[in-house]
Amino acid sequence: MRKRTSESINRKPLKERKGLLAFLAVLFTFMMIGVICCSYVLHNVIKTVHGDRLIDLDFYKQNQDQTTIIYAYDESNNPVELVRVHGSENRVWVSSENMSEWLGKAFVALEDKRFEKHNGVDWIRTVGGVAKSKFKQGGSTITQQLIKNLTGENGRTINRKYNEILSALNLERYYDKPVILEAYLNTIYLSEGCYGVKTAAEKYFGKDVKDLNLAECASLAAITQEPSTYDPLIKPQNNKARQEMCLKMMFDQHMISKEQYEDAVNYKLIFTNSPDYVPSDENIDKELNNDDEIWSYYVDYVISSVIRDLKDAGYSNYEATRMVYSGGLRIYSAVDLRIQDIVENVYVNRKNFPTEAVKDPKDASQSAITVMDYNGRVVAICGGAGEKTENRSNNRAVSAKRQPGSSIKPLSIYAPAIEENFITWSSKIKNYGIMWDGKIWPKNYGGDPGSPNSYVTAQYALSISYNTVPAQILMMMGFEKSYGYLTDTFHITTYSNDDRYMPSSLATGGSHGGVTTLEMAAAFASFGNGGKYYKPYCYYEVTDSTGENIVLKSNSEPEQIISPETSYVMNQLLRTVFTGYAGTAKGYGVRGFTTFGKTGTTTDNFDRWCVAGTPYYIAAVWFGYDYNKQIMASGSPAGRIFKTVMDEVHKGLAVKSFDQFSDKVVQRTYCTRTGLLASSSCPSTATGWYKMSNLPATCAGCKGVQAPSTDDKDTDDKPTTGSSDETTSAPTPAEETTAAPPAPSTEPQAAE
Ligand SMILES: [Zn+2]
Repeated sequence: MRKRTSESINRKPLKERKGLLAFLAVLFTFMMIGVICCSYVLHNVIKTVHGDRLIDLDFYKQNQDQTTIIYAYDESNNPVELVRVHGSENRVWVSSENMSEWLGKAFVALEDKRFEKHNGVDWIRTVGGVAKSKFKQGGSTITQQLIKNLTGENGRTINRKYNEILSALNLERYYDKPVILEAYLNTIYLSEGCYGVKTAAEKYFGKDVKDLNLAECASLAAITQEPSTYDPLIKPQNNKARQEMCLKMMFDQHMISKEQYEDAVNYKLIFTNSPDYVPSDENIDKELNNDDEIWSYYVDYVISSVIRDLKDAGYSNYEATRMVYSGGLRIYSAVDLRIQDIVENVYVNRKNFPTEAVKDPKDASQSAITVMDYNGRVVAICGGAGEKTENRSNNRAVSAKRQPGSSIKPLSIYAPAIEENFITWSSKIKNYGIMWDGKIWPKNYGGDPGSPNSYVTAQYALSISYNTVPAQILMMMGFEKSYGYLTDTFHITTYSNDDRYMPSSLATGGSHGGVTTLEMAAAFASFGNGGKYYKPYCYYEVTDSTGENIVLKSNSEPEQIISPETSYVMNQLLRTVFTGYAGTAKGYGVRGFTTFGKTGTTTDNFDRWCVAGTPYYIAAVWFGYDYNKQIMASGSPAGRIFKTVMDEVHKGLAVKSFDQFSDKVVQRTYCTRTGLLASSSCPSTATGWYKMSNLPATCAGCKGVQAPSTDDKDTDDKPTTGSSDETTSAPTPAEETTAAPPAPSTEPQAAE
């Protein structure tokens, strides 16, 4: 017993000792790794913090007042000035002696009370912030926020935070506190598009930043933490609560007396949108002095595009905005002045836009249009109907994402199915819904379900905008293919994953994401130019103020997205939307010019579309309301707007036809019973366009069949009233059963 006990006693410590050694070895290794890592990090830290100046504040101060000029080209191709973006009016940078004495204090009290003491980083708050795993402003000093404003980097990653800390430490080595505070106040985002306190003071109080009182300074400081939440014009109560908190902190930090605190809390803030607001003489002067020149939607679009492209080129949002507003850029826009003028004249006149009586003009019907050529040039754009009252307001043409309805079908269904040989012009497809979610879906316009025994040609279904047939084709192709064509091939960027497996999104255009007129016009252009996609552009080139250094250049290299053959078959198919007797756009073709395109109506009738082109131009028109409201107008309001604009645009242009771009696309006669190429025994024929690589077989099934149609199984080809989405024409015999030339004698008589 004893022995055993002693043995077990002896053995145990030995084990423990071994374990301890192993533990020490591991610990030592980790410590060494730790030391190496720490020295490496420390080395980097020292190198960065004590190294060269990382941010040059003078860069941001310089060239503050330069005017940016936007040019257009006149008929002789000479640049003419379109708009001057006045630097001085939008000047953001104002020196601290020209600011109210309370301003800096209010921001310091609220945002960074140890500002005067720390060296760029407030370690107490940083550690606190990390502990709460929050990297919001809460943990950031004014110096760090300045870095964020200047670099535009504000992701919440540890790496970003680390870089920001090093930059802040570095910045404080080169600049004094007052300089840093001044830069901060000039770059802080204060909602409503205001960068810096000067524009914010004007925007919210109609005052110069020098004349703000204590209460107003605290109100501006209150916006900082979450501009959209504390915007004084939109959420005055939120702003007031935080303003009072700011004043309390100023009092606690001995910046103001008890009396000053109470006066400021009780002071009634009067914002520029308040009924009590009286603009100063100086402000009235400014308004009269052409300060508020209203630019066209095209200019808005140019400015937004240049800012976006500068950001893509690596500038921060702040830098990009500053460069456009007062960096003295020369922007050579691609607008066609004649066409833009026509568009604006149509759009400013409310009579062109059917609308019911509404109390508030804001509730009136709306519309947007993008007109392009076939090489990506946006020649004209208009983002709203009626008088334009604001610059860079809601530009519906490029930013309103509205459900496309049937106008999506060519992009998501017909073109992909022709390109991939699932269908031809005359493929007979079942005019009946698919089984989806336990029921037969969809129905055609007017609630017509079609019939499981009814088959129609692809061409007919497209021209009359049946919903059943695209659903059937979608089932043949699969969702991935349809979605892939729409998003990758045709570059519709607004469809999302939510739409990927939704037949209603893909086959009938009831999408989650919606589409814009800009992207629709650019995608449909491929049906008029041999299958190429050009990224839409609105400027040719942007230079600096000397005109010598190119800052940006539009790249308009085409991408061959579908074959020229598919493109031309689509072009011919989409012409029948305008010419087919049951075509949904019948009567809306451009006077004197071949027109192809597609209309669209959403199921709930909130949106109407017409995307259509001539050999010269392609245009996408949306019509509807800014809120969800049924459109009561008869016919196709979008088609009417299209025609009103484009008839005028094409006045005086020489007649021109579409180029075929390929000799491998042919016109053939087909049998309307079978959809196959006609033989001499087919009693009823029509013509269609085909890729030579995918011609149908020749009909062998009509021998002995009597002409034409009482016992014809295909009589559902014939439309009935109300079965189209927008037809206004009276029913007459089906287009494809009329005026059919006899089958060419060269057709082989295979069935004989
Ligand atoms: Zn036949």
